Amino acid sequence: MSELRKDPISGRWMITATRKEVDTPIGLITVRKEERERDCPFCEGRELETPPEAFALRKEGSKPDTPGWAVRVIPSKFGVVGLNEELERKGVGDFFFFDTINGYGVHEIVIESPLHITHISKLTLEQIEKVLRVYQVRLNELKKNSLLKYGLIFRNQGYGEEISMLHVHSQIIALPLIPKSIKEELSSAKNYYEEKERCIFCDIIKQELYSHERIVSAGDKFIVLAPFASRFPFETQIFPRKHECDFTNVPAEDLRELAEKLKSTIMKTVKLLKDPPLNFVLHTAPFMVPEAGFWLTIKQDYHWHIEILPHAMLARGFEWGGDFYINPPSPEAAAKFLRDVEGE
Ligand SMILES: [Zn+2]
Ligand SMILES: [Zn+2]
Ligand SMILES: [Zn+2]
Repeated sequence: MSELRKDPISGRWMITATRKEVDTPIGLITVRKEERERDCPFCEGRELETPPEAFALRKEGSKPDTPGWAVRVIPSKFGVVGLNEELERKGVGDFFFFDTINGYGVHEIVIESPLHITHISKLTLEQIEKVLRVYQVRLNELKKNSLLKYGLIFRNQGYGEEISMLHVHSQIIALPLIPKSIKEELSSAKNYYEEKERCIFCDIIKQELYSHERIVSAGDKFIVLAPFASRFPFETQIFPRKHECDFTNVPAEDLRELAEKLKSTIMKTVKLLKDPPLNFVLHTAPFMVPEAGFWLTIKQDYHWHIEILPHAMLARGFEWGGDFYINPPSPEAAAKFLRDVEGE
């Protein structure tokens, strides 16, 4: 299986394989490469070649693991975590100094189309809207497991067939801990709220709409902006205008505009940067397992959002070593370039 390990200095967690077959110099990558498509098991009609589905949006009356679905969620065959063990947190090493958690969690693949489409920008708005709806369904389901604290939804696009299936998909990893980057956002938002009794994200949105320099597009319900101190050239973020900490509370009628913003921003980025590898991540509130005095103001202080991170330049020593980013095109210029690209 796998093991979650905590770096004692930074507090950052990592997942490592403890299964012998993946414990090779390139580990999981080797396994995935063998799995990559010559024929694609994510296509409609090949349902029996994947693990049984956890959920699918499908035509009424159609049976699980048969054709007739629009979006299908399956456990990852090479899941980095699983639920087949009891959650066990312990110290290891001669002095039990190092913190570990066995690989407890859920790793799911969201297959975003029954058709063999290989780029998110080729999906219809209707289809992207369905995918967003499925994200809500899965997060709500995973929340019911009180041992899980966070569900991270992310997508790796364009990393090549060597490490990933080409058929459009995103992933959900739910863990018994909150990832460090989310923790940082949560504590920063909480501190700001304590001081000002306002949401830091709402204040950023207000500021950005006022100056307009870094706004890529502004709809009735969502805005897209290039963050003031972005890490990567042409990084963008999508925020709901209305304050809400939890993505699963977004009403169904708002998902169409979100799909539009997501699709047009990715299309513009892809066009401008000539199809760079990119990630997107959904940052939403943790599962809020009761923890004495901990989530008191989260409904007021946190604001869910999507981050789109193109990797047109590889991170180098300064970035990796310093967690400090050199980002030549200014976010203001990036926003202007993105505004000017003809989108669909
Ligand atoms: Zn396929
Ligand atoms: Zn807010
Ligand atoms: Zn974020």
